[in-house]
Amino acid sequence: FAQMEQTTGVYLNEVQKRAVTHTDGPLLLLASPGSGKTTTLNMKIGYLLMEKNIHPSRIMAVTFSKASARDMSERFDQFFPEMTDWKVHFSTIHSFAYKIVREWLRKNEQDYLIIEGNVDEEEMKKGFNGPQVPLHKHFILKKLYEEENGKQISDDEMDELMTYISFVKNRMLEGKELAAVKLNVKQGVSIFQAYERFKKEHDHRLLLDFDDMLTYCHQILLEDEEILSKYQRQFQYILTDESQDNSVVQHEIVEMLAKPQQNLCVVADDDQSIFRWRGSDVTKLLQFEKAYPGATVMTMSQNYRSSQEIVAASNQFIKRNQNRYPKEMFTENPSEKPIEIKSVRNYEDQLKYVTEQIKEAGTEEEVAILYRNNASAVPLADKLNKAGIQFYMRDIDPKFFKHWIVEDILNFMRFSYNICRVDILERIHTKFNAYITKQQVAFLKRQQVEESVFDTLGDTEVPSYQAKNLRKAKKVFIDLNSMVPDRAIRTIREHLGYDRAIQSMCEKFGFNGEHLFGILDTLEEIAAGLGTLKGFANRLKELERLVQTSKFNKHDSHVTLTTFHSAKGLEYDKVYMIDLINGVVPSKDDLDRYRNKEYGPLEEAVRLFYVGMTRARHHLEMVTYHYKGNERVAESMFVTNVKKIVQPASSTTVKKRKSTSGKKVDQEDLLQPDDIEVGRHLYHPKFGRGVIKEYGGEQIGITFKEAGYKSLSLTFCLENDLLQRDRGT
Ligand code: ATP
Ligand code: MG
Repeated sequence: FAQMEQTTGVYLNEVQKRAVTHTDGPLLLLASPGSGKTTTLNMKIGYLLMEKNIHPSRIMAVTFSKASARDMSERFDQFFPEMTDWKVHFSTIHSFAYKIVREWLRKNEQDYLIIEGNVDEEEMKKGFNGPQVPLHKHFILKKLYEEENGKQISDDEMDELMTYISFVKNRMLEGKELAAVKLNVKQGVSIFQAYERFKKEHDHRLLLDFDDMLTYCHQILLEDEEILSKYQRQFQYILTDESQDNSVVQHEIVEMLAKPQQNLCVVADDDQSIFRWRGSDVTKLLQFEKAYPGATVMTMSQNYRSSQEIVAASNQFIKRNQNRYPKEMFTENPSEKPIEIKSVRNYEDQLKYVTEQIKEAGTEEEVAILYRNNASAVPLADKLNKAGIQFYMRDIDPKFFKHWIVEDILNFMRFSYNICRVDILERIHTKFNAYITKQQVAFLKRQQVEESVFDTLGDTEVPSYQAKNLRKAKKVFIDLNSMVPDRAIRTIREHLGYDRAIQSMCEKFGFNGEHLFGILDTLEEIAAGLGTLKGFANRLKELERLVQTSKFNKHDSHVTLTTFHSAKGLEYDKVYMIDLINGVVPSKDDLDRYRNKEYGPLEEAVRLFYVGMTRARHHLEMVTYHYKGNERVAESMFVTNVKKIVQPASSTTVKKRKSTSGKKVDQEDLLQPDDIEVGRHLYHPKFGRGVIKEYGGEQIGITFKEAGYKSLSLTFCLENDLLQRDRGT
């Protein structure tokens, strides 16, 4: 032991030591963030190799993602540099399952094709235009939906359907349990069944999606004695990290492999379970002793990672969840800077703020920027790059640059260079307000367009409203050509009516366009400060390259960009949690479900936030803002929560504050959250007197006497003293 501690420089505590030396028989290590779970697991592998002389090929160490398997293996190599040639198997259950499935398919001479993952552009085009369905999960589902419902599937429905399929397969649900899963996709269950059939009956080849790897592997292990016993014999020791995120089928695969020897070490923290929507299941963990009678269960609650402040606040924060194993995390680490909460004006200022801070701090600290949605990655990458800061991006999303919205904007710009180009017009004519019909485009194609498509059309008989719009559009396109890019995008959105076109398309298909407008906002941000439209197109290309190559910067950049999800298990000196507004953290969907009394998703959002908080060693900063575009947004309710934890005194003291109207408001004149109910009369300093018509969670709908109906953010109103008693004056 002493030797191991010396080589690694980590001196284990008593529980950690016991866990390391408890090599034989089932062990569950249920412990808080930063308590050394992964460290213990790595030490245990070292111990098995060095003390117990176990051959590395007999050990399987699994974790939740490929990236984290790599991280774990790297950490192992750092601990035991002399053992890097000893090939311990660090993997995910997925890649193990894939191996088994391949082996079985080979053995049975069965041809197969994987139908999930990146789709290349050619495939995409086939899917949209061609008669043939490209063999990709997405397109197969799209096609089956159309056959079933006679209309196109919306993005939201597609997301929901994909999640549903993953969920039921990972949970291995059947019969009644399967029927009980809620699904808001028209004919969703039959589409799912048709999808399963399609994959089996397609042209001699077995089609497999990612979840099939797991269910097939499970089935193979059940049925093929030869394969099962081969791997049971091979893996004498199985260790799983981040096990709270294993799904039922994954637990079962592990259980089957570990069966004869039962040398299984399961490491988990139920408070960090963040993939339940995808079918992970902690009840399996909590029933560990049932599955393995005589199992040892150990817990650890001393955090070695973070400062006093961070540990205390996270420990308090996670308690807002009802559905958890009670535990108390503590640390003996010193007290450092308090948790900072920065509130800026808007999204743009947030990026500026974080970039400036990082630039000022220099390269000493390891920094991470954590966000909920990958959409934030591109604008951040843009800002950091402009500031000359190199970064490493954990989840790369090259799809952004290929999105049709991006293509549309570039096409508008291309068209402005040459307003005779019917081929470009054809791609955008339905998306701006000159009301050019398909027939008119077909007509233009047959013509020699000399001055502009607008003039050529104007010379024909067009309705008078259109004639006017054609002239207007022509002028806008001519002006567009000489505008700076961010102005140009604004103009496309507002004056050419692109936003409205997107909006009505969303309404027609019944999905919300938030994501699409987000892409447009991002484009504007990237465009800011650039001089020409060509420059903008080049900048997009440059960014795409930058994002794609950032994965090579892992070891030589001190800044990491990552989603909350992918940050799990990792640690940084300083952590920025950004985009902390209601509707993002927690998501709109989490809030909607919460209002409908479905509490699971909000609890998961709490756990995700907790994972974020507990990544920081020395300094944690939360960033929130008030405006997204022109729209008012409210600070994340989790931030409000943390504020109360870190500054309990100031949030409870009754004080007189200035309201936005500039008049001082008496505390007694303010409505309290408990006073909010439908039918209550109130006074708002800007809109005057009104009555609450709707109230559910974060939004409040009020009909004002003068200003009419308004839907307002409740948190924002309360924080700014905007909801006052109606004194009847
Ligand atoms: P998470 O739940 O976030 O995955 P974890 O429980 O896996 O956390 P580790 O990443 O193993 O925790 O450890 C957190 C930090 O604490 C690491 O920097 C590790 O080196 C350090 N650490 C762990 N155990 C000890 C110890 N006994 N003495 C000193 N430092 C330790
Ligand atoms: Mg860990």
